[in-house]
Amino acid sequence: MLEFDMTEQQRMIRDSARRIAEEHIKPRAAKADREYKPPLENLKVLAENGFTGILIPEEYGGLGLGVFEMTLVMEEIARACANTAILTATADGPTSRVIMAVGSDEQKKKYLPKMAKGELFAGWSMSEPNAGSDVGNVETRAVKDGNEYVINGSKLWCSCAEVADIFLVLVRLDPAPGMRGLGAILIERDTPGFTIGKHLDLIGLRATGMAPLYFEDCRVPAENLIIPLGKMRKLFEVLDSDRICGNPPVCLGIAQAAMQDALAYTKDRKQFGKTLSEFQGLQWKLADMAIEIEAGRALLYNAARRADAKQGHLLDASITKTFINEMAIRVCNSAIQLCGAYGLSEEFPFERYFRDVRGLSIGYGSTEIHRNTIAGAMIEGRYTT
Ligand SMILES: Cc1cc2nc3c(=O)[nH]c(=O)nc-3n(C[C@H](O)[C@H](O)[C@H](O)COP(=O)(O)OP(=O)(O)OC[C@H]3O[C@@H](n4cnc5c(N)ncnc54)[C@H](O)[C@@H]3O)c2cc1C
Repeated sequence: MLEFDMTEQQRMIRDSARRIAEEHIKPRAAKADREYKPPLENLKVLAENGFTGILIPEEYGGLGLGVFEMTLVMEEIARACANTAILTATADGPTSRVIMAVGSDEQKKKYLPKMAKGELFAGWSMSEPNAGSDVGNVETRAVKDGNEYVINGSKLWCSCAEVADIFLVLVRLDPAPGMRGLGAILIERDTPGFTIGKHLDLIGLRATGMAPLYFEDCRVPAENLIIPLGKMRKLFEVLDSDRICGNPPVCLGIAQAAMQDALAYTKDRKQFGKTLSEFQGLQWKLADMAIEIEAGRALLYNAARRADAKQGHLLDASITKTFINEMAIRVCNSAIQLCGAYGLSEEFPFERYFRDVRGLSIGYGSTEIHRNTIAGAMIEGRYTT
C-alpha cells in the first residue's frame, strides 16, 4: 500500500491492530458468518489490547484518540472480519459519541467507562418499517408522563441489537411532521416493555446481531432523553463523523482483503500452463483494484484528518462514503471474477467479502441519499472548486 504521513504513534496503532486482527480475529471470521453468531470473543481480544473506547476521553477510561486513529483501526479489523468491524463501530459509535457530546455527567460516568473497557455494548436505532431514508417519518412515540417517557412503536435493522446493553433510539416527541418532532432517548436492554425481535438475516454481515426492536408502554426515566426536541442537529453532527470512521474503513478493509487474497490466488492457480497472474488482462484487473483502493484510502484519510482538525464538511462524508462503498463492491466483484468458480465457493472468502460489502452502500445513508446531499450542495453553490 502507498505510504501516508503518520505519526509514530499512529503507525504503531495501525500495525498492532493489524497483528491482532490477523492472529486472533481472521481465523474466526468464516465461522461467525456461517453460524450467524456475533463473534464476541473478538471484541474481548480487542478490549484486552486497548482497542475499544478509541474515541472515549481518557478521563472515562478510553484512549481519547481521534477519527483518524479510529479509521486506521477499523480498516485493519475489517480486513480480518467485517462482522467484528461493524460490532466495534457500533459499540464505539453513535451512542457513546452522543453521550460524550451532550450526555449528563451522570450518564457519562455510568456508561462511558464500561463502554471503554468493552464491557457494555451499544446499538443505535433510527430505522423503522416506514422510515428508512426518510428518517423524518419516524413513528415510534415517546410521550412524557410525570418523570418518565412512555415509548410505543417498533424499529428495524438495528445492528448489534442481539448483544447491545444500551440503545440510542430515535423517537417522535411531538406530532409536528418531519425532523421537527424528533428526539433521541437512551433505553437499557432489560427495561420492561422493550423486547428485541428475531434475528434479521441479510445477504451479508450476518454475524452483526441485527434485529428489530419493539416498545410497548416502555417507561424510561425522563433524564434518558438525550436529544430533546429542536436539537436533532447535534445527532447528525455525531453521525457525520461516523459516516467517515464507521462505514468507509469497513469497506476499505474488505476491499483490501479481497485484493490481497485474489492476488495470491492468481499467483498460484495455473491454466494453459501459466499462472493466472501471467495473463495481462488479469494483471490489469489487479492493477485497477490497487488504483481504486489507494484512491479510496487517500479520500478517507483526508476526510478523517479534516474531521479531527474540525475542518470537516458534510460533503467529506458523503463523497468519501459514496466512492468507497461503490469502489469496494467493484473490487470484491473483480476478486470473484479473477478466481472463477472458486471465487463463488464457500471454501474461499471471496463470496463472503462480496456479501459483506454489499449492504454497506445502503446502511449509514444510502449512496443515493449521499448523492442528493452532494448535488444539493453543488446546485446551491456550497460546493466550490
Ligand atoms: C448493513 C446494514 C446495517 C444497518 N444498521 C442500522 C442500524 O444499526 N440502525 C438503524 O437505525 N438502521 C440501520 N440500517 C438501516 C439503514 O439505515 C436503512 O436501510 C437505510 O436508511 C435505507 O432505508 P431503507 O432500507 O428503508 O430503504 P428506502 O429508504 O426505502 O430506499 C430504497 C431505495 O430508494 C432510494 N431512495 C430513497 N429515497 C430516495 C431519494 N429521496 N432520492 C433518491 N433515492 C432514494 C434508496 O437509496 C434505496 O436505493 C442498516 C442497514 C444495513 C443495510
